[in-house]
Amino acid sequence: MVEKKEPIGTQEQIERRPTAAAGDGRVRPNPFEIAQKQLDLAAEILELEPAIHALLREPLRELHVTLPVRMDDGKVKVFKGFRVQYNDARGPTKGGIRFHPEETIDTVRALAAWMTWKCAVVDIPLGGAKGGVICNPKTMSKGELERLSRAYIRQVGRILGIEKDVPAPDVYTDPQIMAWMADEFSFLQGYNEFGVITGKPLALGGSQGRNDATARGGIYCVREAGKVLGLNLNGATAAIQGYGNAGTYAHQLGRDLLGLKTVAVSDSKGGILNWDGLNYEAVMEHKKATGSVVGFPGAQFITNEALLELPVTVLFPAALENVITAENAPRIQAKILAELANGPTTPEADDILYKKGVYVIPDFLCNAGGVTVSYFEMVQNAYDYYWDLETVHERLDKKMTAAFHAVHAMAQKYKVHNRLAAYLVAVNRVAEAVRLRGWA
Ligand code: GLU
Repeated sequence: MVEKKEPIGTQEQIERRPTAAAGDGRVRPNPFEIAQKQLDLAAEILELEPAIHALLREPLRELHVTLPVRMDDGKVKVFKGFRVQYNDARGPTKGGIRFHPEETIDTVRALAAWMTWKCAVVDIPLGGAKGGVICNPKTMSKGELERLSRAYIRQVGRILGIEKDVPAPDVYTDPQIMAWMADEFSFLQGYNEFGVITGKPLALGGSQGRNDATARGGIYCVREAGKVLGLNLNGATAAIQGYGNAGTYAHQLGRDLLGLKTVAVSDSKGGILNWDGLNYEAVMEHKKATGSVVGFPGAQFITNEALLELPVTVLFPAALENVITAENAPRIQAKILAELANGPTTPEADDILYKKGVYVIPDFLCNAGGVTVSYFEMVQNAYDYYWDLETVHERLDKKMTAAFHAVHAMAQKYKVHNRLAAYLVAVNRVAEAVRLRGWA
């Protein structure tokens, strides 16, 4: 009997740029088309040379890999993976690796482009890259995840290196996965080269403060937004969509650093709402015990969609792309939209939010704290000399605050929304490097 072939991803996931389709028939905007559209707007204002514009619209390099992995039942399962090195004009490329069932090559391309602008906007000497594997980590054992992580490095390791491309965690990847990957890469090299990856555990050359860095950087931005808007954030309400690394730390640090009162949080199973506030420690404990925030005692159920439309002061989208679109943007009531996720807002929604007066802290500025501390980790690995937590926080604050005000000033100068302003700052820096290197 011939066994049915297991799909390793739909055709659209692996190679196409669908405008609005996916295998399951649901309509989704293509994130890479969005990333290119955002760049086009900036290129026009900057009057970018056509050759530089054309170069910045496409990734420099990408590697598509096929990964055979022995599963716990003894059978081999085949996965598809990608690594996209978008642009290295300013330095080695940098960016996380996502494990997700809905990963597509175009998501990875878009995320790699956004990493390029992210590193430029906080002015760290790195380019942009991203990796992804189409898989569902929630249904995989620890052993299966380890074998998949090692298989990925065995294929992609040939284009990685501390001077070439340095990965990190992203959606559904964590310090343990980084440790396996650093270990596999070290075996391939024949010596320990832990600096090839960041977001590692402390015992293997990780940096103090990397774990909460994405949320912390975003909270510093919200603090600065409060200042420029004249808003008192102490006791102000917040809602968080997504309860992974960025979302959970935003809950904790929003309270500890700014006095924010988080009234709603959600994960992939749904959300919870309590206008008196949700206790961070208690929600974390509930999620740990049950696998979801849903069912938290004393809170009412709320959908992910409804959470986005709550009348709160600060809204943190901290999950995936394309959650704020032309359809729901008119109903967003938050004063500050702090984008901890990558790509949560479509260009049409940007225009609507700008006209409504919602103050958007765009993704590649708001969530740049993660890569900034990754850069600190690279520096510490290079010198093999490690900083204390206070030093990391101080330097991160300085970087984020400077980047926030550069973007805010650009938005005022050109009378454009903050995302376009962030593009103007970042693209200008990358274009200058391209020009100086004589590429175009
Ligand atoms: N994956 C994170 C991001 O999207 C961190 C990347 C890094 O640290 O290199 O920014």
